[in-house]
Amino acid sequence: MEDNGAEQCRGSLDPEDWRSIRAQGHRMLDDMFDHIEAVRDRPVWQPVPTEVRERFHETLPVAPTDLASVHAAFKERILPYATGNTHPRFMGWVHGGGNVAGMLADMLAAGMNANLGGRDHAPIEVEQQIVRWMRDLFGFPRSASGLFVTGSSMANFIGVLVARTRALNADVRRKGVSGHRLVAYTSAAAHGCIAQAMDLAGLGTDALRIIPVDDGHRIDAGLLQEAISRDRSAGFKPFLIIGTAGSVDTGAIDDLAALARIARREALWFHVDGAYGALGMLAPDIVPRLAGIDCADSIAVDFHKWLQVPYDAGFVLVRDGALHRDTFAAPAAYLRRETRGLAGGSIWPCDFGPDLSRGFRALKTWFTLKVYGSEALGAMISRTCWIARHLGRRIQASSEFELLAPVSLNIVCFRFRGANADQLNAQIVVDLQESGIAVPSTTRIDGKLAIRAAIFNHRTEPEDIDALLAAAAKFGAARAASRAA
Ligand SMILES: *Cc1c(COP(=O)(O)O)cnc(C)c1O
Repeated sequence: MEDNGAEQCRGSLDPEDWRSIRAQGHRMLDDMFDHIEAVRDRPVWQPVPTEVRERFHETLPVAPTDLASVHAAFKERILPYATGNTHPRFMGWVHGGGNVAGMLADMLAAGMNANLGGRDHAPIEVEQQIVRWMRDLFGFPRSASGLFVTGSSMANFIGVLVARTRALNADVRRKGVSGHRLVAYTSAAAHGCIAQAMDLAGLGTDALRIIPVDDGHRIDAGLLQEAISRDRSAGFKPFLIIGTAGSVDTGAIDDLAALARIARREALWFHVDGAYGALGMLAPDIVPRLAGIDCADSIAVDFHKWLQVPYDAGFVLVRDGALHRDTFAAPAAYLRRETRGLAGGSIWPCDFGPDLSRGFRALKTWFTLKVYGSEALGAMISRTCWIARHLGRRIQASSEFELLAPVSLNIVCFRFRGANADQLNAQIVVDLQESGIAVPSTTRIDGKLAIRAAIFNHRTEPEDIDALLAAAAKFGAARAASRAA
């Protein structure tokens, strides 16, 4: 084989001049601090202009570009056209706002370039410390296991897979699921990723029984019990109940204690989709609402939502750590592992999920928990609920708006009153988003289109709520008037 000049070319990607990269790096960091400090002064969202969008069609760069120019392109073409979830008036969907300590930690993690699939190094200890913290927070035993994943879509999927192992034992990994007639139960308010998890697990979405909700948007436990009995008589094999702690539409929390009782009586796996709500465990006023979560067999949690850890930082906690490992580990892989040297290490996270190479998501979570402390984080979580209640009260006091669901946590569903309300409110939401003043989203409550304000951002203040309502009233009146004309 020819050398092709390989000997002459510079291999290392490290800078030749460390002094200038250091100065450029500091500028990039300062710019980001400036950006976050002044976040409130900018529009929440603005669409990506066509000219900007077109610039992303440039072909693969062959020649180098200096870092400062690439950073300038970032500032011009990327940074201004974000979703807006760092902004205090972003209330669309269930998005966290991020935090500065977590951002810095992510830079440190990238510098370390750790791979958390396994082996014996301190980053694994950081992840395991968070596993222990979560174990304690949720009252799980020492034998419980936990794993960082992208988000709760993956965490819920893992929950379904471990439950599947419990039902069919680890043979299912070789033999597949055909012919077993397994069925699972969740509520009509469950997140769409639950059905997707059933699909991906090979069980099929038809095997997910959707149980109606009560007036508070919580699963109807009586109907759940009836569905289980009906399925058993029809020859199905119930194996799993999935409760929701914080539904994305209204923030409803299922009666987890009731679900735990049914699961125990029926010998079913009890998984809780606590993507955003489970971390209400940090807020003393929310804890009683989560009673029963300590009886779950597995819990999905997102640190990137209410805890404000930068994306992505999902997590799954499993009561039976051995069963969790048996669901994913290559047969007896953990027995073959070295006891000494870098290839040692007692916990190999790759044995607990589908990923082999894994980044250091744990570090930004560790920094966030340590820098702020659980008490202040809990108070921040409670405060988002207080702000949501403020919005709920203002809506109830107004004649222009009506509340469409009880404000049970930090999500408020409401609408502007008027003829053709579904269409009118869909327009108001788009008007609000395009104005850059505030970003709510829409959802459907009992068939009605609602404006949904989900208060997750730690920067949101009551005056942001007032700005949202003032703008919504203005756009609503203008839309209604233009129709009448
Ligand atoms: C966000 C969310 C999910 C999905 O989690 P991702 O982190 O987006 O994958 C699932 N369930 C609930 C209740 C959620 O809020």
